[in-house]
Amino acid sequence: MRHTDSPDPKLLANIRVVLARTSHPGNIGAAARALKTMGLAQLCLVDPGIFPNSQADAMASGAGDVLANARVCATLAEALDDTTLALGVSARRRDIVAEVLTPPEAAARLLGEAGTAPVALVFGNETNGLTNEELSLCQALVTIPANPQYSSLNLAAAVQVLAYEIRQMWLGGASWPQPDIDAASGAELENFYVHLETTLAELDFLNPGSPGKLMLKLRRLFSRTRLAREEVNILRGILTAAQTGRERRQE
Ligand code: SAH
Repeated sequence: MRHTDSPDPKLLANIRVVLARTSHPGNIGAAARALKTMGLAQLCLVDPGIFPNSQADAMASGAGDVLANARVCATLAEALDDTTLALGVSARRRDIVAEVLTPPEAAARLLGEAGTAPVALVFGNETNGLTNEELSLCQALVTIPANPQYSSLNLAAAVQVLAYEIRQMWLGGASWPQPDIDAASGAELENFYVHLETTLAELDFLNPGSPGKLMLKLRRLFSRTRLAREEVNILRGILTAAQTGRERRQE
């Protein structure tokens, strides 16, 4: 008998949890355990303070396999290079990313997109949370509506809350909103931003010595409208034309 409406495990397998610059190795282990209990397994550590470590192993308990399979990346861009959707998990910092989702909205968005491409939830450092640069790589924010008088959860507790929401949504088996465009991947977007910055510098619109907040503002502009792969190609074509035109005028 075919169970066409049973939840698809491939959706959970395509959801990556990224921990940025974690200070306490125990939190990495506790996060691995939080993921495994909810059926998630993809853990990615960006520049962890201390890893591997016996405290991480102890806190992971029976989720040692998630820890052993964790991928360690030097930068957040590297962790997100094949993802088409990255949601930054943050209690604050609404100034950088325009769209703020509730945990159930985030879960629906991730499950809807996970059928087509890898997607990610990005958690910040225990003391400082996510930096502006890290947030600028995320398309939307997720905030856990905690007590406004004390809203900062322990990192692994925040991972557990989001992992639980994803599992409940997944078990519910609803038809989640499917992506309406062939979205560009993290690597395609990063290559576009590098090309944009180089071209703006060549055109003397941006001073490479003091770029100010221009690139962050431009990232925010583009992240408000989700860029399709084809649109990134068109924009890069325009940049190349601007570069070539400038070179010709200088000859
Ligand atoms: N002091 C830091 C909080 C760090 S808590 C700050 O002010 O940003 C570590 C991580 O847990 C955060 O970066 C975030 O990813 C997550 N987190 C904790 N509480 C949260 C909340 N209420 N909503 C969303 N994420 C939260």
